[in-house]
Amino acid sequence: MNNHNGRNMFENYEKYLTFLNSELEKFFTAQAPYIFCKRGCSKCCQNAEFPYSELEAAYLCRGFKQLDENTQNIISNNINKIKQEKAAFKGTKFLYTCPFLTDNACSVYQYRGIICRTFGLIANDDSEKAKLPFCFSEGLNYSNVVDLEKNQITQEKYIQSGIKTPPLGYNISYDFLTNPKFESIFKINFGGKKPLIDWFL
Ligand code: SF4
Repeated sequence: MNNHNGRNMFENYEKYLTFLNSELEKFFTAQAPYIFCKRGCSKCCQNAEFPYSELEAAYLCRGFKQLDENTQNIISNNINKIKQEKAAFKGTKFLYTCPFLTDNACSVYQYRGIICRTFGLIANDDSEKAKLPFCFSEGLNYSNVVDLEKNQITQEKYIQSGIKTPPLGYNISYDFLTNPKFESIFKINFGGKKPLIDWFL
């Protein structure tokens, strides 16, 4: 990850994150009647692949270095355990709990990746079908307007809910948010992308 450790790269990346956070905050505020995210809920940090670019992984490591020794040890043990599980895994898509999740909270919150910041909203772009956050099926985000038999938001459920703001999807796919346009605007280089755990293999 050497080419991303430069100070300027992180400074530029932080400018990108400031921009991203402010956009996401607008989306979360607009969709507030459908969002049931709360402190202590860590469902998004479990059972996933967590795509991370080289730049994001390097920035996450920056956060890791600022943690106390005990928390670092917990995370290192988590990483080793997941690596062993992945090595023994025979299927095609290895899902795991993020090793940076400690005591049901993100230990590197300010340094978390882009995918972590978008969890909970409906992803929607020109090339993709609207993708609901998986937690609707657990009675959380958008569950108040989803027809569980159809696994989708329906007009009927929306009308029944009495909510005035319509449920909306946003262009927050990982590929879009890490595309070359943003690299050029913010003078950053995301580098290669792979599941978070693979940056530690
Ligand atoms: S980095 Fe933090 S927010 Fe992202 S998946 Fe891991 S624990 Fe969750």
